[in-house]
Amino acid sequence: KGPDPDLLAIVERMATVKHKILVLSGKGGVGKSTVSAQLAFALAAMDFQVGLLDIDICGPSIPKMLGLEGQDIHQSNLGWSPVYVESNLGVMSIGFMLPDPDEAVIWRGPRKNGLIKQFLKDVYWGELDFLVVDAPPGTSDEHISIVQFLQATGIDGAIIVTTPQQVSLIDVRKEVSFCKKVGVQVLGVVENMSGLCQPLSDFTFMQMAETGEHRDATSWVLQCLREKAPEVLNLVACTEVFDSSGGGAAKMCEEVGVPFLGKVPLDPQLCKAAEEGRSCFADHRCRVSAPALKGIIEKL
Ligand code: ADP
Repeated sequence: KGPDPDLLAIVERMATVKHKILVLSGKGGVGKSTVSAQLAFALAAMDFQVGLLDIDICGPSIPKMLGLEGQDIHQSNLGWSPVYVESNLGVMSIGFMLPDPDEAVIWRGPRKNGLIKQFLKDVYWGELDFLVVDAPPGTSDEHISIVQFLQATGIDGAIIVTTPQQVSLIDVRKEVSFCKKVGVQVLGVVENMSGLCQPLSDFTFMQMAETGEHRDATSWVLQCLREKAPEVLNLVACTEVFDSSGGGAAKMCEEVGVPFLGKVPLDPQLCKAAEEGRSCFADHRCRVSAPALKGIIEKL
C-alpha cells in the first residue's frame, strides 16, 4: 500500500507554515478559545503572518471572538480562502459554513475527522509564521486526528488552558498525559480566570460614589484620593473566585513536569473584548488581563 494521498496533500499544504501550535483544555468554558484568539491577535500585532484554525466543530466560537460573525468562506483555484481580520491574520472555522448559527452540529467522529482533514488539506493559507489551532475540549477523536495529521508535517507543541480549581486540573493532567502519549510537546499551561482583579478606580470607589448608601462620604474620599494620592486608585483588588488552595496550575505543572506559563485573571473587560471580537492588546481598559496575556506569550 502506497502513502496516504490525503496525508501527502496535507504535508504539501503545510510546507508553507513555519510553526504550528495547538491550544487544548480538559474542560469547556475555561477560556481556551479566548486564549487562542488573543494569541492570534498578539502574534499578528507583532507583524507575523498568522492563521487561526478553529476545529471545535460542535461549538465554534472563534468567528465571534475575531469579529467575523456571518462571514462566508470563498473558494478559489488555490483552495478555500480563510476569512481575514487583517491582511496578516486569517481565520478558518466551521462557523463560517453553517447556514444557521443556532443549529446544532450533530456529527459522528468520522465526519468530524473528514472536515479536519479537509481544513488542513484544502485551506490556502499562503506563507504563515504561525498556525494556531483551537481544539475542542477533552481528548476525543478530533484530537487524535489533528495530532496525527499535523505530526506528519511537524508540530511545535500544545498550550493547555485551565482554571485554578481541582475539577479542572484533574482534566488537565489527562490532557498532559494525552500529549505525552502521542508525542506532542507541552509548551506550557495557562491558568485562566485566576481571581477577579480590578483596579479600585474601575470598580469599588466609582460604584460606591455613584450608587452606594454613603454616597456623599464616598465621593468625598474619592475626591481626596484623586487629589492627594491618585496612585492608590491604580491598586488592583483581587478576589479568588475559584478554589486554588491545592496550589493551582503552578503546583500541578511542577508535579507533572511541564512548564507553567502564568495566570490570567478574570477581567470583565477581556470578556467584553472577546464578545465584541476585539484584541485586548489594543484596548487600554484591559489593564489587568492584557499584560498577563502578553507575559505568557513572551514566554513561548
Ligand atoms: P472555552 O474555549 O474553554 O470553552 P471560552 O474562551 O469560550 O472558553 O471562554 C468562555 C467565556 O469566558 C467567554 O465568554 C469568554 O469571553 C470568557 N472569558 C474567558 N477568559 C476570561 C477572563 N480571563 N476574564 C473574563 N472573561 C473570560
